[in-house]
Amino acid sequence: MRIDVVSLFPDFIERCAGFGVTGRARERGLVSLHAWNPRDYAEGNYRKVDDRTFGGGPGMVMLVEPLRRCLAAMRRADPQPAHVVHLSPQGRRLDQRKVRELAARPRLALLCGRYEGVDERLVQAEVDEELSIGDYVLSGGELAAAVVVDAVARLQDGALNDAASAAQDSFEDGLLDCPHYSHPVEHPYGTVPEVLRSGNHAAIARWRRQQALGRTWERRPDLLAGRDLSRQDAALLEA
Ligand code: SAM
Repeated sequence: MRIDVVSLFPDFIERCAGFGVTGRARERGLVSLHAWNPRDYAEGNYRKVDDRTFGGGPGMVMLVEPLRRCLAAMRRADPQPAHVVHLSPQGRRLDQRKVRELAARPRLALLCGRYEGVDERLVQAEVDEELSIGDYVLSGGELAAAVVVDAVARLQDGALNDAASAAQDSFEDGLLDCPHYSHPVEHPYGTVPEVLRSGNHAAIARWRRQQALGRTWERRPDLLAGRDLSRQDAALLEA
């Protein structure tokens, strides 16, 4: 998959996407990342990318033209159509279902705003969808873009050493993940639950499902709302 990121801070994106699973996905050729700086497409000695907002008030707005030219250069670099996402606190909230949908696309372009945001005309003309990473305001879209790159890269086939691990993660089946333990069995902070050491795979699967249901019920009851639990799940939740 190809991901293009349009940002006034391309180094930030490059660095964020250089570590761990994302770095590995890039090394393995599963994800190619290309950063584009709208300042390179701005005119004049000062390469101005922002200006005051019409109507008055504080803050600057990212100009249409440098962004338009930058996106045009990005499109020329590869004929494959890009799904253009504007990271914005006003967008639809990102969740794992949306991440899966994005991860299945061959090409994504992530547009990062700064200042008061991007001139609305550019958004209307060039953007396919707006996504938010939560109900709070960041000073720029780069962190949000890095979140999308990370979440999408780890879902590419071959990015994780064990493909099954993504399927067990929180939200994949609509529930939170169960708790995990490792060595040592005994520790002043507690003991690893016996069932996990029993070797009884059916009992382990049942315990994990029960924990996942219980945690979801306690921490994120909204995830269970409107969901029809199977008879087995309902029994586990009541146990
Ligand atoms: N004036 C904008 C508003 O209130 O909707 C906020 C602009 S914010 C200071 C600058 C940029 O940060 C935005 O254009 C967007 O790209 C990014 N940003 C801020 N919060 C975000 C969030 N929760 N999710 C995604 N991007 C965000």
